[in-house]
Amino acid sequence: MSRRNSEPKTDFVFGALGGIGEIGMNLYLYGFGPPRDREWLIVDIGITFPTDAEPGVDVILPDIRFLEEERHNIAGILLTHAHEDHYGAIPDLWQKIGAPVYATPFTAAMLKSKLKETSFADDVPIHIVPLGGSRKIGPFDIELICMSHSIPEPNAVFIKTPLGNVLHSGDWKLDEQPLTSPPTDKKRLKEIGDAGVDALICDSTNAIRDGISPSEADVAKTLAAMIREAPRRVAVTTFASNVARILSVARAARQAGRELVVVGRAMYRVIEAAQETGYLDDDFRFLPETEFDSLPPKKVVALCTGSQGETRAAMARIAYDSHPNVSLDAGDQVIFSSRTIPGNERAVAKVQNGLSDKAIEILTDQDGLVHVSGHPRRGELEQLYSWLKPKLAIPVHGEGLHLEAHAEFAEDLGVEEVLRIRNGDLVRLAPEPAKIIDELPTGRLYRDGRIILSEGEGHVRERRKLSFVGTISVSVVLSDKGQLVADPMVAILGVASVDGDGEPMEDIAIDAAIGALESIPRPRRKDRAMVAEALSRAVRAAVNQAVGKKPICSVMVQVV
Ligand SMILES: [Zn+2]
Ligand SMILES: [Zn+2]
Repeated sequence: MSRRNSEPKTDFVFGALGGIGEIGMNLYLYGFGPPRDREWLIVDIGITFPTDAEPGVDVILPDIRFLEEERHNIAGILLTHAHEDHYGAIPDLWQKIGAPVYATPFTAAMLKSKLKETSFADDVPIHIVPLGGSRKIGPFDIELICMSHSIPEPNAVFIKTPLGNVLHSGDWKLDEQPLTSPPTDKKRLKEIGDAGVDALICDSTNAIRDGISPSEADVAKTLAAMIREAPRRVAVTTFASNVARILSVARAARQAGRELVVVGRAMYRVIEAAQETGYLDDDFRFLPETEFDSLPPKKVVALCTGSQGETRAAMARIAYDSHPNVSLDAGDQVIFSSRTIPGNERAVAKVQNGLSDKAIEILTDQDGLVHVSGHPRRGELEQLYSWLKPKLAIPVHGEGLHLEAHAEFAEDLGVEEVLRIRNGDLVRLAPEPAKIIDELPTGRLYRDGRIILSEGEGHVRERRKLSFVGTISVSVVLSDKGQLVADPMVAILGVASVDGDGEPMEDIAIDAAIGALESIPRPRRKDRAMVAEALSRAVRAAVNQAVGKKPICSVMVQVV
């Protein structure tokens, strides 16, 4: 007798290993097939940048344990666009997955340039999909749809399976004049909506903001006016990947009879990819930074990296007078054609203070429309929902606040069902009803120099603690009878060298170590681990008593 099983023979699922509950580290997954043997499509695989809480960490990557286990079932990796939070993890993680990569021409050019820094650049199969193109990737029929954003070739992905379809928005906004690749393909979106969209998986970044974001073309006008009216040198700093902004600055410079000088390596990489794929004017030209100082102040515009206050980027080095080729003086101007990403406020303020101390005039979005966001505000979300009329909405690409604002907004717009999910939730989209059916392992990986380690593995946590309290190392050498062979040796880092009364910390630590050792009966001193533990506790307590801080204390016991 057959009974209706609650588990369907084939299903269509969606989940994320990064990107939901955070802005960064996007990694979305679509699965199709028998629940125990699905084929997977990965959409985007990005990184996130560390904060002060992860000292020394270079980048943060999504934990892909689940994909490593499913490696044999991964049909492909599709990249929606070339922002670090969407494609930046390929160099670190691709070898663990090994699947072919699909991308449009500009994204592919950026990826190839990035892969040059790896040892396996030639092993990665990169399939170039034209704008608006379609592909079959495993069991998925994929169609790319042009969107607007803050980089060339942002794509939405229409994913069709025999059980249902999904429109995955990627990062987008409505901008009639994005100045690079074609604007959002409203016509196609409406057609898709008319034919029926089962689920919309959509960008939440600006879901708390009302209205419609201004166009990149409006920014171009402001920049042109500022550069035209500038009394002396002008430097513009922006996100290197914003090709439209590069183009706008270059055009403004030419109109004002000024030469463009490009400063910063990241900017060169993007310019090269943009030239290769035809996104810069035919007569686009710039001078190397070595020419900067020889040009008259009214004849130059510098385009610089470092809008987020990054210490090694061009803008910071110019602000601190440590740039080898480019310097600015009183009366020159710097335009911050960017938004300060949360977490970078202090770094940006430091650079701006440095410039201000030299009487360099700073222009920001307080002074005019010098930057626009690349993400949809509520007015734009409303339009997309009205075209697509999805049965189900799943907000992604946002922190908790953005996701919830998006979810409530979608409900207000009359979407039948809105699912609130987080990284790791696996949602069965079809057969209906859509619901969370499983939990995938998720987490964050740190790249620390050449090592990749998981967040829980500790040494970064230790390093953070070190940065607060410092460390004291004590070395003791005992005879086989348990007697001290010489005075303990002490090394101190990041701890006050004397206490409030002027007593050296070294003496305090040595006295504490000897005192603790003497309280241990000689026969028991053979247990080196016990001795080390007792001494460590005593030294920490003595230092705490002396200066009110408990440093990390390590004790080495040697028996000779
Ligand atoms: Zn983006
Ligand atoms: Zn993004």
